[in-house]
Amino acid sequence: MMVSIVAGKEKKSPAPAPFYEALRKALKKRKLKIETICPPTDVVARRILEEYGAIFLTAKKAAPPPVCVFTAEEQVTRFQEAAGFTTEIIADAEIELQPGAMKALLKARAEAQKENLDITPRGGAEAARRNYEDSLRLWDTRFLPALDYWLGQGKLTAEQVSRLRNLPLQDQVAEVLELEKSGLFFSKDVSKSILYSIAAPGTSQHIAMLALDVTEFDNPRVREILAKHGWFQTVLSDLPHFTFLGLKEKDLPKHGLKRVVVDGQIFWIPNVGDPTSIKAN
Ligand SMILES: [Zn+2]
Repeated sequence: MMVSIVAGKEKKSPAPAPFYEALRKALKKRKLKIETICPPTDVVARRILEEYGAIFLTAKKAAPPPVCVFTAEEQVTRFQEAAGFTTEIIADAEIELQPGAMKALLKARAEAQKENLDITPRGGAEAARRNYEDSLRLWDTRFLPALDYWLGQGKLTAEQVSRLRNLPLQDQVAEVLELEKSGLFFSKDVSKSILYSIAAPGTSQHIAMLALDVTEFDNPRVREILAKHGWFQTVLSDLPHFTFLGLKEKDLPKHGLKRVVVDGQIFWIPNVGDPTSIKAN
């Protein structure tokens, strides 16, 4: 157990609880086990849990996904129907989110607008709910160009490229993460892990309908308003991406998240030791 340190009258922010410990507690309340949502033997699923896992700590009023990695459209549809979602038109885009997340977003937006600011979806409807097929297509928008790039650089052979293209999806993800260990990154600008650019297929927080890509992410006041309403940046280096946790910012450390500041932006990520090498962009 982590003990929060209170020195005199001045209350220091408590040391973050270990992620796995906090996660186990959070899942127990939902009668779930880590082993069920994310098998310990599945290295890729575990890596994904440690990158995107904040979503599993979402407040009671929202429903986290039942698995770390969805593997079929039908499974996604079933989850999305059970969790439920509402639709709003925001800046001409049809936005679909879980009801609790939507309610908080609309409150945040109203508050922003009072200050002559706004909170709008970045890139249309895809800024919010996505299905399995979307996650596959988006993976390819990073995976395929990066293959061509590394082929052009002579770092991959034509045979390797063709083999990678034809691998079963799960193996493809595993091998991409393996290649990244030797510096062959697959993000859009090939400078960082593909996981900070696009989610692995079947894993997006957008599938959970608890994420929104925000046009105005660059504005510190907008980020502050979103945080006040339970929306936080939880995926390192994915700057426009916000996650609905429905928790107070001061409580995030005890929920197993640690605060990391990159380029002046605050990220709340699973507290599992040092984050993997990040190149700030
Ligand atoms: Zn996103």
